[in-house]
Amino acid sequence: MKPPEFFHANELVAVMTTQPLGRALDYKAPEGGCHMGAFVEVPLGPRKVIGVVWGAGQGDYDLSKIRSVIRVLDAAPMREELRSFLSRAAAYTLTPMPAMLRLATRAPGLGDPPSMRKIYRRGEGEPDRMTDARRRVLETLAEYGDLSFTLKELAEMSGVTASVIKGLVTQGAVLEQDSPRDLPFMRMDPSLPSKELTEDQASASALLAAGVASGTYGTTLLRGVTGSGKTEVYLEAVAAALKSGRQALVLLPEIALTEQFLHRVQARFGAKPAEWHSGATMTERRRIWKMVGQGQAQVVIGARSALFLPFQNLGLIVVDEEHDTSYKQEEGVLYNARDMAVLRASICGAQVVLASATPSLESWANAEAGKYTRVELTSRFGPAVMPTMGAIDMRSEGLPSDKWVSPTLKVEVDKRLERGEQAMLFINRRGYAPVTLCRACGHQIGCDHCDARMVEHRYLKRLVCHQCGESKPMPEVCPSCEVEGKLAAVGPGVERLGEEAVALWPEARVATLSSDMYGSARALKAEIAGIADGAADIIIGTQLVAKGHNFPNLTLVGVIDADLGLMGSDLRAAERTYQLMRQVAGRAGRAEAPGTALLQTFQPDHPVIRAILAGDEEGFWKAEAGERRHAGVPPYGRMAGIILSGPDVAALFDAGNQLARQDAPLRAVGAQVYGPAPAPIARVRGRHRVRLLVKAEKAAPLQEALAKWVAQLRLKNDVRIAVDIDPQSF
Ligand code: ADP
Ligand code: ZN
Repeated sequence: MKPPEFFHANELVAVMTTQPLGRALDYKAPEGGCHMGAFVEVPLGPRKVIGVVWGAGQGDYDLSKIRSVIRVLDAAPMREELRSFLSRAAAYTLTPMPAMLRLATRAPGLGDPPSMRKIYRRGEGEPDRMTDARRRVLETLAEYGDLSFTLKELAEMSGVTASVIKGLVTQGAVLEQDSPRDLPFMRMDPSLPSKELTEDQASASALLAAGVASGTYGTTLLRGVTGSGKTEVYLEAVAAALKSGRQALVLLPEIALTEQFLHRVQARFGAKPAEWHSGATMTERRRIWKMVGQGQAQVVIGARSALFLPFQNLGLIVVDEEHDTSYKQEEGVLYNARDMAVLRASICGAQVVLASATPSLESWANAEAGKYTRVELTSRFGPAVMPTMGAIDMRSEGLPSDKWVSPTLKVEVDKRLERGEQAMLFINRRGYAPVTLCRACGHQIGCDHCDARMVEHRYLKRLVCHQCGESKPMPEVCPSCEVEGKLAAVGPGVERLGEEAVALWPEARVATLSSDMYGSARALKAEIAGIADGAADIIIGTQLVAKGHNFPNLTLVGVIDADLGLMGSDLRAAERTYQLMRQVAGRAGRAEAPGTALLQTFQPDHPVIRAILAGDEEGFWKAEAGERRHAGVPPYGRMAGIILSGPDVAALFDAGNQLARQDAPLRAVGAQVYGPAPAPIARVRGRHRVRLLVKAEKAAPLQEALAKWVAQLRLKNDVRIAVDIDPQSF
């Protein structure tokens, strides 16, 4: 029976709160009644907490003991669509409902009014003295005509500090005003002209637009090599959503990419989209949350948590770089934003576009199976062609063990420098050196709280744990044998590679892109923009530079250690390495000059390395799919990880073994359990972690079985349990 949409005073309602209680609690509707989905304040023991009216009350308590809702908050009720999405997401990920609800109420525009803040726009005056920084500010303002910016936005877009803008304010060249409360988002205009699309792009965008116009659910895998114009194409799907009066959400994996993207959206639709990410202030979040709910924010770009915003009429979700591992949330609620995007779209009748140059095997398999439509862009836009790929066989380069740039690579970089082009050296390791070893006693410095080595970050003069973020000053003496001056850096990190590059090419301008070196994301962005403009000859970087940046004059990418991802037993390692290498190679040759990517490898005959070199995407995926099918793992089978964590390893193994023995609920659905074994990250923040893996056939009702199975375990000795459906590593 469908619950009513409105509850009159004193009728029983079930209220879901974000408190870990397991289920909704009964209350009496307040005087004046309340809507289904209303945000309410309720008493809970001695406290007052916020919750959402989730349904009719059960009435299975003593009626006289049931308390009343204190008040209905001044916020639009949560729509049926979002409540249903949260329930289904909770069921899929086996997350308790309160924890899931928390994701959707993080900035619920409840309570305090947004504070007044200043906005900035072009004034009449001219600065007395023109500097580069000042010119950039004025250019930014000129470019966007009559738009206003916050101080932070203007500073970021111009790559200057706030004081430069304040200086311009004093001179009347920039006007500072109080922002009106709830500054409305500018209307987006989908009828502004798009770029002139190529034939391929036009047919791809027509297909996506038709999907959006149909007003029904559907998922399309938009595959296209880097630089083929995927963004241009999916912006036309956004236009189609706007034209049919629906909202669009674009998820991006990396916040560093959003600036470029914001500009592109603004250029296409004449206004900025709403930006939702963890760096946003509470005030900004409240405002966006409200505007999204009212439909005034028509396009939202954001990180994975934007999926939980209260859209009024969502018609399209784009997941850009859909293969990116950062879409998987690995703490708290364990969910994959790509999969949740598909779930939400299927509930609200929206289209999903999964865009990537190197799709995940999951999406590839769904396309093969006909669940997703597949659209391809096969060539780069304009004169740019795909880079030539080559291997450098490190077995015959005779490199000393503390150097990483091979003579062959050196010669290739020299050639680019002579031609005035840029070269990039890529290494997927942050910091200076991955290992700090005592030459006197052999001790390797590890993290006190995690099962991980401390990584030297020379620029920060600290040792940092990449697992938990703990850091300490670089010690003078070995913490184990206390001998002085014997600690040595072993292996390369991006900073060390930067040092080697400076020594090899003393005349060149070397830019090491390590986030350590830039105090803020803004500074890093400014640096990247400068490099794109030609401020460096050699760029040294990690993953940070592999993602989406456009360096038009870059013609050579040298991958220092192409074998790095192939070690270890993770079944996804091949896929990861393949994707990463293709992405990195994709940085080369984006404009007129043709690009080359060279992989330094000790295993030039490894099947993955060969597939990368041959550019045989389809062949690679087929081979990889074959292996996974054979092993019965995702996407051809289902998996879940059960992570037990706690201070005492023995207690964890006890609990794990008990679970492994009591596997009847799993066997009932044909699932098998493996383990317990130390988890891939065996200790984090002082808590040990032990994992069991469960494997089942694709069609098995795994969640139900898991829920029954796990419920048998009585948690004691501070043992905690987390279920990870579709784990990233297996
Ligand atoms: P992808 O998202 O596939 O990497 P982009 O959409 O970013 O590709 O396109 C790469 C570059 O080519 C961008 O600078 C983009 O503006 C440009 N571009 C792509 N298609 C067109 C087009 N039809 N007209 C003009 N410029 C285009
Ligand atoms: Zn640590």
